[in-house]
Formats: sequence, C-alpha cells, structure tokens
Amino acid sequence: MPRPGEAGGPWLELGDQVFTKRYPFWDQQIGAVMGRGVVLVVDTRITPRMAREIVDDLRALTGDPVAIAVNTHWHADHTFGNQVFRPAAIWGHERTPGQILERGGTALAGAPEYMPDLALDLAEVVLDPPNHVFSEAATLDVGGRPVELHYLGRGHTDTDIVVEVPDAEVVFAGDLVAGDTLNFSHAFPLDWPGTAARLLELVRGPVVPGHGAVGGHAFVVQQQAILHELSRLSREIEAGRMSTEDALGASPIDRTTTERALARSLAQLRGELD
Ligand SMILES: [Zn+2]
Repeated sequence: MPRPGEAGGPWLELGDQVFTKRYPFWDQQIGAVMGRGVVLVVDTRITPRMAREIVDDLRALTGDPVAIAVNTHWHADHTFGNQVFRPAAIWGHERTPGQILERGGTALAGAPEYMPDLALDLAEVVLDPPNHVFSEAATLDVGGRPVELHYLGRGHTDTDIVVEVPDAEVVFAGDLVAGDTLNFSHAFPLDWPGTAARLLELVRGPVVPGHGAVGGHAFVVQQQAILHELSRLSREIEAGRMSTEDALGASPIDRTTTERALARSLAQLRGELD
C-alpha cells in the first residue's frame, strides 16, 4: 500500500477552476472547486494528517481558504479529515452525521489493527460530522459560483451524494463509481443501478470517481452495466435458477468483490437491510 505523504498526481483542471488530485493512498480523488475568494473541497481523506496534506497541496493553486467541505458519504476515507477544515461548513446527506456518529467510532477503533502504519495518525481523529445536511438537493454558493449537491438514491451506501459544478460541467460522483474498486461493504446493490442511471442524467463532461481514474459518460454506463448484471445474478440465485458458483463465474468483476455484492444483494432481496 502506498504511504501517505507520497505526492500523488498533480492537480488536474477538469473545467474552469475545477480541480481534482489523485492521492496514492487508496487511489483516492480529492476535488477542489474555486469560487471568488473561497474554495470548496470534495472529501477530506482518512486522517487529519492527510487532510493537512490537501490544505498544503491547495497552496499550489490558491491562497484562498476552504470555506466548504463536502462529504460524498460517511466512510472514514471521505470524512475523518473533516476537523482540519473547520471552521468551514461541512455538507453531507441528512443520514451522514448519524452514520458517522454511530459507526465512525467502531471504524476508528478497528482501523489501527489493519492499518498499523496509520495508528498514530488515526489517534488524532475527532469525529466531526457535517453540520449542513439535506435530503434530496441543495445549491451552494461558492464565492458567487453555484454548486449543486444531489442525493440520487442508495448505492455504495445510503448516504452517497454527487457534487455537480454546472458552469464547468464537472461531476464528482464519490464512490457511486469507482472503476475496478467498486465497494459493496455497506452497499444497497439492488438500488445502485437506478442511482447510477440518475447520475448518468447529470453527466455532461468529466466524472470524478471516489477512487481511480477520471472518466466520462461511457465510464458511468460501464459501471451501471456491471451493477445491473450483479443485481440480475442475485435475483437468479434467489429464484433458484442459478447456483452461486455459476453466478460467480458469470460475474463481470472479480470473485471477492462479486461475493460481497451478492451477499448484500441477497440480504436486500430477503428484506434484511431495510
Ligand atoms: Zn466509500
């Protein structure tokens, strides 16, 4: 696993004054939208130290302060750096604060065991959930520039939101799309294809995933096709028309990820996740 502190890629300008930077740790994308005199950042990384790295890296672009941070969902790698950006307003879906407060402590307690290199940095984390929330949509004013937040339904989690910069036609999709690293640990796989379809309606230009390379319309179509197929396979298993082994063999993605996806799908079909 790459060490935090590695430089990663440069800031990539995807539209006028809309940037993303790809960090080696978990191959994560962090967004920056510049308004007049202020900056909005998309996601805050997994430790305060990594969040401070974002702040330092922003100095290559601007001296303006971060006035707004957005958490695309409740997962630790998108929220544990929040405290570094205060007194910025932190935005998220209305369920995000509850999820961070309910599950963040457990994540924090367990993380040092599987990420011993980060134990000291994780000890610095203070759970600091969004103080601005919404249910379906919100328009933010980033120094005179409108930025739209959308909740499009359950998918990777039940808190995924999408950040749209309409004047630059850039969409930050969080972990609703993630290339080869789709993660189903807390997913709602039966809802996810529909959520991806609504995401597709917003796409006019670049789409920034939570992890991995920037894509566009075709990338989201490809992800949606995978999500559809996994859903279909789970329904085949549940209906007794296919064995789990055959479904694993037919999956368009790797076996381990498919196993997780099918387990969550079947749990959803059996009404165990609602
Ligand atoms: Zn995630």
